Amino acid sequence: MLTAELVKQCAFQSGADLVGLGDMSRFEGAPKNFDPRYIFPEAKTIIGLGFRIHRGLFRGIEEGTFFAAYPSMGYANINDVYAPVVLREVGDLLEDNGYEAVLYQNTAVRLGSNAGKPVRPDYPSPDVFLHFRIAAYICGMGEIGYSKVFLTPQFGPRQRFCFIITDAPLQPDPLYEGPQLCDRCLQCVAECPGGAINGTNTVRISIEGREIEWNDLDVEKCDALFQSSIPEYNPFMPDNVAEYIRGIIQTEPGKERHKFVSEHGAPWTVARYEIPYNRAAWESYHHPGALCGARGCMRACMIHLEEQGKLQNRFHNRFRIRPPWRLGPDH
Ligand code: SF4
Ligand code: SF4
Repeated sequence: MLTAELVKQCAFQSGADLVGLGDMSRFEGAPKNFDPRYIFPEAKTIIGLGFRIHRGLFRGIEEGTFFAAYPSMGYANINDVYAPVVLREVGDLLEDNGYEAVLYQNTAVRLGSNAGKPVRPDYPSPDVFLHFRIAAYICGMGEIGYSKVFLTPQFGPRQRFCFIITDAPLQPDPLYEGPQLCDRCLQCVAECPGGAINGTNTVRISIEGREIEWNDLDVEKCDALFQSSIPEYNPFMPDNVAEYIRGIIQTEPGKERHKFVSEHGAPWTVARYEIPYNRAAWESYHHPGALCGARGCMRACMIHLEEQGKLQNRFHNRFRIRPPWRLGPDH
């Protein structure tokens, strides 16, 4: 008989670093466009698979000398190469036991939810978008940090996820009980270039009666900055894009931002196509060149959690050894 234990064993043996199982009923209350029960109404279980981002993939950006490792191996490779293989292996196990497996890869949905037309009355528009942080929470794998990045006791913010939605009735894991990881230190706010992480306004949701809260992220700003960072932290930025990025930083969401964007282009596309480094990254591995290196939401948070001894994946040396670099106005 197929059990949760066998599924976990298969996932770990196939290369996952983290595995968690959640009951589909925990999605109760989700907006239709984000409710995976519309993808597979007979599904009973969601299986979360986590893959570490090696700490060394941030090293070159931390030192300011090698920016390629994080976007290629820490982003594209996990999402498009490594995790799909493990998804297939666990999917095979489910199918060999007579259960269907919807393999949900990260970044599979490129147009977002609401791109198509609903095919039946009362159905959401395709593609239904799985909110990965919430899905990982539902699988009991950790908590959502103030930064909006998912935190686990094993790696803190350093992992990516993929999921399987299945009709196999497997024993779910409980929601994460702690120890608490995020202590609202706000280091993510302090080190996010350009202030995409909001230090005061938050978003709240409830899952199985638990209140979860994270910052009201300026998504448009992060859309640009996670790829481009700001001129002071990007040695590849052409002057015209530097001007654009300053414009985005200086405008808040709303009318003024809208005007700026409609005159100069959307943050996501300008950062992706107007910076030669990012354009080459997109062309070569079909993923954004993430030159920010998640400065606030991952690096600052990881440093903080490691300093507090909260993470199970431990290192002989601390991560930040030299004062962080910052380009001056002459560059
Ligand atoms: S840096 Fe990490 S621990 Fe600190 S507030 Fe942000 S998410 Fe929480
Ligand atoms: S990716 Fe960069 S810009 Fe976006 S939230 Fe993280 S630190 Fe801020």
